Amino acid sequence: MARVDLHSRISRTLFTEEEIRTRVAELGSQLSTDYDADRARDPERRPLLLVGILRGALVFLSDLGRAMSIPVEYDLISVSSYGNGTAPGAVRLVKDLERPIEGRDLLLVEDIIDTGYTIEYLKRSFAARNPASIRVCTLVDKVARRETDIEIDYTGFTMESDAFVVGYGMDYAELYRNLPYIGALKPEFIQQ
Ligand code: IMP
Repeated sequence: MARVDLHSRISRTLFTEEEIRTRVAELGSQLSTDYDADRARDPERRPLLLVGILRGALVFLSDLGRAMSIPVEYDLISVSSYGNGTAPGAVRLVKDLERPIEGRDLLLVEDIIDTGYTIEYLKRSFAARNPASIRVCTLVDKVARRETDIEIDYTGFTMESDAFVVGYGMDYAELYRNLPYIGALKPEFIQQ
C-alpha cells in the first residue's frame, strides 16, 4: 500500500513547530508564576491538577506540563458531543476524572475551543463538585465560531478564520494528530 503523505493534505501552516514551542514555554512560565502566587498566599494548597481533554489535548498537555516549574498532577477526561444532531451543543462525559476534586485547583487543558459548548459543560459539571478553582487553558481559540459566553483564562493562539485545523494533537477522523505543526486541512480531504 502506498504511504500517505499527511503534509501534502495541508493547505497552509497556521502555527509552526517553532511558534508553538515558544508559545507553550511562555504559557508554562505564566501559569507557574500565577499558581505559585496562589500557593504563597496559602501554603497548604495541594498541587495544581492539570485536566487534559482526550484525545486532542494530549500533545499540548504533555508539552505544557513540562514547561511548568511548579508541582502538578495529571488527570484525563473524555467527552463526546452531539453537535450535528438534534441537540446542538449537547456534551456528555464519557470518561470522568479518576479522583475527587473537592478543594483542588483545576486547570482544564484543551486543544481548541470552537463553539465553547464543551468547556461550558465541563466547567459547570466540575463546579458542582466544589473545587477551589477552575481555570481554562486552550492552545487555540477559534473566536469566530463562539456560541457561548465562556471565560478563557489562558490562550496560546487566537484564530480569526474558521478553517478546520489539524496537527499537534488535533485530528480529522482520528488522523493528523502527530503532525508537529498546526495547519488547515485541504477541503477535498474533509467529507461533507
Ligand atoms: P466546542 O465544544 O465547539 O468548543 O468544540 C471543541 C472541540 O471540537 C475541540 O476539543 C476539538 O476536539 C473539536 N474541534 C473544533 N474545531 C476543531 C478544528 O478545527 N480541528 C480539530 N478539532 C476541532
